[in-house]
Formats: sequence, structure tokens, C-alpha cells
Amino acid sequence: MEPRKKFFRFRNEKIIFFTFTGLMLAVYLFEFFIILPRIQASDPTFHKGIHIFFGTLILINAYLSVWKFITTDATSGSRVLPSSLEKGWKYCWKCEANAPPRSYHCFTCHKCILVRDHHCVLVSHCVGHATMRYFLSMLMNMWVALLYSNILNFDFVWEVFHVLQPKTLLTMFVPWLAWVLGYAESETFVMAIMTSICLLGFMYCTVMLGWHGRNLLKGRTCHEMAKKIGFNYDLGAAENIAQVFGVNWKYAWISPIIPSPLPGDGISFKEKEFVERNGKGL
Ligand SMILES: [Zn+2]
Ligand SMILES: [Zn+2]
Repeated sequence: MEPRKKFFRFRNEKIIFFTFTGLMLAVYLFEFFIILPRIQASDPTFHKGIHIFFGTLILINAYLSVWKFITTDATSGSRVLPSSLEKGWKYCWKCEANAPPRSYHCFTCHKCILVRDHHCVLVSHCVGHATMRYFLSMLMNMWVALLYSNILNFDFVWEVFHVLQPKTLLTMFVPWLAWVLGYAESETFVMAIMTSICLLGFMYCTVMLGWHGRNLLKGRTCHEMAKKIGFNYDLGAAENIAQVFGVNWKYAWISPIIPSPLPGDGISFKEKEFVERNGKGL
């Protein structure tokens, strides 16, 4: 796939992107500088080195996923599309070109996206044939990072919130107000904000991963799920994963930089009936 040239069109896209990627770093620094030293202070046998190692690995993987996601072109690029409408193709009046099956025009990207799933507002880029792997990789790394953070944060959350009083409830749900009213110390305020971000982020990622993981196994996009179409693209779980994570899918999920060419081109597709008649095989 060809690299993408322009990342952001509007200022608010830049603000959302840098807030999102900045929060990833903020969670990492919070665990590194506040939570791990706290755990070590209360338990001298605790070795934080191993957690720093794994935490750094997950953060690098998450950033690499974002980088691969935003630099990969999700359109047909410079490939020449047929000038006459073929079976299942449609004409896009915006692009003034023929668009293959499963592709849809994105009114934010202003382009037709191959196997369009949805437009990800966090990085301002479309999830489609060439980018689905990196989107899922980003989501998986965020989910693992937030699960890890919540486990490490547990002692603090328990310490502050195990007694459910109005003050602790206020600190839990409206930390800034608890801080302004003097119910929460500055340190508790920062801790409450960060642990809430970890908790809410984890819940959000779990829902997203459940939804997109199900679509991955079924070989269909969000759009096809919503419209109850595209059943013929379901080639069985293993082959559906290979269509997204590439021929080396058994390892490609570990890191977005593991080379794994996609078996399809996002323009023509293997279909269920065809596979059933002719046997499987990538
Ligand atoms: Zn279009
Ligand atoms: Zn888009």
C-alpha cells in the first residue's frame, strides 16, 4: 500500500489526535512515576523492572500501531480501476470513478475507502482493507495496557474508595469538585483522575474490542453488520483473520511491524460459495 501524504485537514482533528496519543503517554508516566514507586514503597520485595519492561513494550507497540494506521493509504491509491461498471461495482459521484464491492465513500476523508468499516475519529483516518489490522492492533494494545494499569492501580483504588462515603463518591465521580471543595488532596485528585481514565478507557476498549473482534471472526465490516449484508464474505474464522492480519496472521497480531502481506487486494473477493466449491487455501 502506498503511504498517505496528508494526515490532518482540520485543527480539531489534530487536537483529538494529540489528546488521544498524549493520554497514552500520560497513563504510562503515571504508572511509571506514581503507581510503581507506591507499590514498591509498601512492598520491598516488589520488583518494578519487569513491569517497566512490559509497559514500555506495550506503549511502543501501541504507538507503532497508530503510526502504521495513519500512514497506510486505505483507498485504491494509484491502481487503475475499470472504466465500465462490473458486477457488484457502483459509481461514486463524489470521486467520479467506479468503486469496487464493499468500498464506500467517506465524507470525512473525501475518498472511497476499500472494504470501508468506519472512520476512526481518534486518529482521523478510515478503517478499511489496508488499515483494519493496524486499527485492531492499536485497540488490542490499548486494552492490554489499560487492563495492566487497572491491576496495578487496584491497591490505590481500594485504599481510597473501599469506604463508600459521600466524600469518596465525590472524589471518585467528580474529582475536580472534591479537590476544589478541599475533600481531596492534590495528589489524591491526580490519582483519582488518572485511575478513572484507566477504568473508563478499559471499559470503552472492552466494548470496542468485543464488537470489532466479533466482526473480524465473521469476516464482515461494521457497515455490513448494520445493514445485515455481506454474509458471503464469511470464509470461516481462521481465514477471516488472515484476510485482515495477512498471511502471517498467527504472529502478525503480536506487533504491527511484523511483515504479513494481505492475501486479498480489497477490490476482488473470495466468496463463501466459491470457497465451499473449490476448497480453502489462502
Ligand atoms: Zn468516493
Ligand atoms: Zn474516513
